[in-house]
Amino acid sequence: MSFVNTVLGAIPVEELGFVAIHEHIGYGMPGSELDTKWWKSPEVRYEETVPKLRKFREYAGGAATFVDATGICNGRDIPYYQSLSEKTGVHIVACTGFVGGDTALAHFARASVEYLTEVFLHEITVGITGTNAKAGIIKVGVSRGGRMTELDKRIYRAAARAAVQTGVPVMTHLAIDAEPAIAIFQEEGLDLDRVLFGHVDDGVNHAQTPTARILEVGGRLGFDTFGYETELPDPPFWARPRKERMDHFLRELGAGHEAKLLASADANCSPLGWPGVKGHTINYIFEVLIPDLKRNGVADDVIHRLFHDHAHDFLAAKPAK
Ligand SMILES: [Zn+2]
Repeated sequence: MSFVNTVLGAIPVEELGFVAIHEHIGYGMPGSELDTKWWKSPEVRYEETVPKLRKFREYAGGAATFVDATGICNGRDIPYYQSLSEKTGVHIVACTGFVGGDTALAHFARASVEYLTEVFLHEITVGITGTNAKAGIIKVGVSRGGRMTELDKRIYRAAARAAVQTGVPVMTHLAIDAEPAIAIFQEEGLDLDRVLFGHVDDGVNHAQTPTARILEVGGRLGFDTFGYETELPDPPFWARPRKERMDHFLRELGAGHEAKLLASADANCSPLGWPGVKGHTINYIFEVLIPDLKRNGVADDVIHRLFHDHAHDFLAAKPAK
């Protein structure tokens, strides 16, 4: 049987239920937690977060899993996640790794590949920041500017090594400049099916993201910014027209890549150090995305597989043979 690490312990993959593969309990730039302007009391954070998670579980109609894509240094808070999971019954999968080299604090930014590998391995096999909660996935990403920096590459290589040793999958923030990433994963012997190349659908980067190449080497595509659309009252810079994103997704689905596609909303339950995007929550998946998929003729069993089977297959730890 395959298991997945959640913040409350490892559970059999079948118990994950509905999976939102790329979400945030609260994401902020390093240091935002020290800024009085943005500091929130624990009560306020719970108040903003618990109803969204309860609703998510209600919509899922049973087991529901929230994959928190907030890496080290961006507001990841394990005891808080554990308490949220206990309160709401939502499984929360925490990640090790970094959103990008440019959000890694100096302590990590100066570290070697070997040191970073040890950090990731410890968080996956022993626990995160003094807790016994283990990471279920590794986050890596491309720094602002759209080219992989030397530090990004060190983090990708450490992630690949930790993934090969533990079987835990890797998810990326952005998939532009994919060639260096693909080369590192291949050099380290990581099966590309274990990598979810994220944000292939976002409004800024989608045109430069080499999706055909990623599929050719066996990678998975994360359409994980659903809901950041130009139709919002105050859309963020990475927004995209709703129909354009949907058409993009339907093209990949229609081309036979269903098993390589995962979808999510990349929403923040309670943003840290920024106001967040008004009107966008994880529940966009149920309130807008799934009805939109149905309206476009995507069958119920396909939708089920996207949010259950394919997500389970990706998350299930698969140590290299
Ligand atoms: Zn994200």
